[in-house]
Amino acid sequence: NVLPSPYRPDPKIASLGAKIGDPVRSADFPRTILRYRNDLWASTVGLDSLSDDLWVQHFGRFVPLPDNMPEPLALRYHGHQFRVYNPEIGDGRGFLFAQLRDGLDRLLDFGTKGSGTTPYSRRGDGRLTLKGGVREILATEMLEALGVNTSKSFSLIETGEELMRGDEPSPTRSAVLVRLSHSHIRIGTFQRMAAEGDSESMERLVAFCLTILYNETPGDNPAAQLLHLAVERIADLAASYMVAGFVHGVLNTDNINITGESFDYGPWRFTEFWDPHFTAAYFDETGLYAFGRQAEAMHWNLGQLAVSLRLLCEAPPLIEALERYPALFQAAIIRRFLWRLGLQSRGDERDRELVEAAERAMARGKIPIDIFFHGYRGGRLPDTRQSGEFSDAFEAILADYRPAVEDTHPYWTASTPCSMLIAEVEQIWSAIAEKDDWDPLMQKVEAIRTMREALSAVKG
Ligand code: AMP
Ligand code: MG
Ligand code: MG
Repeated sequence: NVLPSPYRPDPKIASLGAKIGDPVRSADFPRTILRYRNDLWASTVGLDSLSDDLWVQHFGRFVPLPDNMPEPLALRYHGHQFRVYNPEIGDGRGFLFAQLRDGLDRLLDFGTKGSGTTPYSRRGDGRLTLKGGVREILATEMLEALGVNTSKSFSLIETGEELMRGDEPSPTRSAVLVRLSHSHIRIGTFQRMAAEGDSESMERLVAFCLTILYNETPGDNPAAQLLHLAVERIADLAASYMVAGFVHGVLNTDNINITGESFDYGPWRFTEFWDPHFTAAYFDETGLYAFGRQAEAMHWNLGQLAVSLRLLCEAPPLIEALERYPALFQAAIIRRFLWRLGLQSRGDERDRELVEAAERAMARGKIPIDIFFHGYRGGRLPDTRQSGEFSDAFEAILADYRPAVEDTHPYWTASTPCSMLIAEVEQIWSAIAEKDDWDPLMQKVEAIRTMREALSAVKG
């Protein structure tokens, strides 16, 4: 899906009216040291040929891009945070900087994280830690490789400030991240318009999402039509997290993009094995967003989108859309498991049995997810096998399956385990913090991109 394109600015956000966001300025940082530029994705929006100097001017100093937004906008939204409604949020440390078309003609946004305070910062400093930026790069690269529809980390620039953070040995270094994302319209954007009873803005937003983001022609009931599309995308997103072994950590409604693209990576973690109770955020005391509860959390969030859309339409067609979610999630889990295992579908009940047996084998044997998928790829048996009742049951079903990749393909020799567990992330960060050594980060990104090549041999 990386298709080179010339630079094509398209600041469509203006068509949503003045109430979508507030004009803001970026902080004037003491330093701007380029740490990471994503030239793979820069090529898809025609910006890979920028010199480092110009790159820093645009993505560290926020000089407007040619024919693009004249000034950044801090977007307005509300949201449920851990199920508690909060009308005081919004872009508190970021803004929408520019919009442009990619090689597939999709409208993409440049959004920032750590670019300074805004009217929505409340008591926050509007800043991002350098470690937070490094972690977002790792999460996005890994998720992209594992087939998750995710925002891309486009640029990371160190900004030379010292930040105080409760959960860090303070003070800690600062950075500004630019992400490339298929919209920054969140469920919380709809919630704010509903809370304000602003049906005119809501109608315009729904039409915008359908026509510009989903390329659909609005029919008789645009609100329900949009909910159907969001349900489809978000059910698939939830399934993709599971098959990646990923825990986002903060699945609040303001962190759920209407396009179903995953974004905003804070306290994320990859689970050690198939452990439904595994939790990422230390402040998630009840395990609301634990590994095994993510599908349910996203369904609940879609319910809040439906509640907001009641401003435009009656309940029954919205409920009908929401009710499709469990079956869509199940189908996506099966499709993605087979993809990750490199197997052809049998197209019957066996597919579901295979997935359930795999989940049990990983959970009971505490087998790391990437080791499991790699070991059994194409239906082969791993060199070092975890014997036991649950693995045996899985292998019995697996015997019915055929590989989805030809024998001669490089897929078979590619080394795909790329476990991005917490210890590894800490090691990469230590090299930067202690020796300003960025090589381990760059080597990891390279390894992940190699894995991505291998996995892309299988059609998902
Ligand atoms: P999050 O949970 O990261 O999605 O953030 C929730 C809300 O808190 C959003 O409105 C953010 O913009 C805001 N926020 C998070 N960190 C900061 C910060 N350091 N300064 C200002 N606002 C922040
Ligand atoms: Mg957020
Ligand atoms: Mg955040």
